[in-house]
Amino acid sequence: MLPRVSLVKYQSDSASLKTAIQLCDGFAHLKQTDRVMIKPNLVAWEERYPIAPFGVYTTTRLVEDLIILLKDFGCQNISIGEGSVQIQKGVGTMQAYAGLGYRELEKRYGVTLLDLNKSKTKKFVFHDDLSLHIAKDAVESDFLINFPVLKTHGQTKVSLGLKNLKGCLKLQSKKLCHHAQLDLEYCFSHIADFVKPALTIVDGIYGLEKGALHFGKAYRKDLIIASTHILGADMVAAKTIGYDSVDIKHFEYYAKRHNQSLSLQDYEILGENLEENITPLKWDWAWTSDNTGPGIFQKFGVTGVALPKYDDSLCSGCSPIANLANILVLSAFKGQPLPKVEILNGKKMQARPGYAKTILLGNCIKKANETNSNIQEAVEVIGCPPVMQDVVSALKAAGLDVNESVYHGYMKEQSEKYDGKEGFDKKFFQA
Ligand code: SF4
Repeated sequence: MLPRVSLVKYQSDSASLKTAIQLCDGFAHLKQTDRVMIKPNLVAWEERYPIAPFGVYTTTRLVEDLIILLKDFGCQNISIGEGSVQIQKGVGTMQAYAGLGYRELEKRYGVTLLDLNKSKTKKFVFHDDLSLHIAKDAVESDFLINFPVLKTHGQTKVSLGLKNLKGCLKLQSKKLCHHAQLDLEYCFSHIADFVKPALTIVDGIYGLEKGALHFGKAYRKDLIIASTHILGADMVAAKTIGYDSVDIKHFEYYAKRHNQSLSLQDYEILGENLEENITPLKWDWAWTSDNTGPGIFQKFGVTGVALPKYDDSLCSGCSPIANLANILVLSAFKGQPLPKVEILNGKKMQARPGYAKTILLGNCIKKANETNSNIQEAVEVIGCPPVMQDVVSALKAAGLDVNESVYHGYMKEQSEKYDGKEGFDKKFFQA
């Protein structure tokens, strides 16, 4: 029998999720006594400029629908587990839970909220002597329900079921996946070898274009994709936003290790017609041809400063810092060439010749350029990740007349960009 994947239209009530689960027989192996863990995608939380939730977080609406279905089935031991990235110190998973209505779910249904960043871990070796430390709560649950969002990603093209499991890793392992020598997609594709979701449901009420590093643009898609087969769910979900499975490296790594097919012919898709539900969403961000900054630099005529394009070694902790640097450099541009400064991030970029100063954002890139003779004068921003104020000071020290209020204005705009827009109802993210 072919692995079954359901593709269902979300119709504004809980019947849609029920249909998606029934079509793929998602509860076939569920027992009433199981310790069930739901792993949504609550990637990070921001207090000052709350991230616009559409296409970023799993909708609280569908998580609540799932809890009701599990309760109706007779399950009593239900937890929700996530390990959100901390963009601001002390603001992590529990704040995301509070901000997205999960406290209400806790009260209403007696579910347990777990911060997987704090969970005890199990160690799994995945490459030579490299290992992943994975939250025991996820590894040892009897029935793990992986609940990602339908989104694209600036480093991995798509971020679906396989990628969502990265939230089960201890912080050090999350960072390790963004390895300087190994491919990010190779590393995280192993998590599903050790944490095996019994069911993957992709929340496609919203789909996100140019997601993750660039904040992205959400579209209403009204789809739910579900399967007991994680790769099958990811392949169908990816196709609905225009991606063929063979073009996604982490699908390929996982499929090869598990001897699974990357052809949709080898999966039974039930429910909606897949071809009629494809809306391509872009994942990548244009950069200047000489790799000196985002495409907008060319448009505005920004010269002098160079900000090479992020690579896959840039981990989630440093990515807001890289974004901050882009915006601050733009704020310093007054129509004249900027000072010859190169700004590097991640773990493997190498300083190029011809720059009077090289700003090194974070401990990793400082280390990677320790012996780089192209550097005339290094401006090091220490930290893992560095703090925003130190980045601002470093840019100023390098002769850039940056205006922090431009950054704050941009963040506010990002936070409020869907306010009042039809189809973008924040009630989806409340219990
Ligand atoms: S310095 Fe930045 S890139 Fe390096 S591990 Fe820390 S957060 Fe990640």
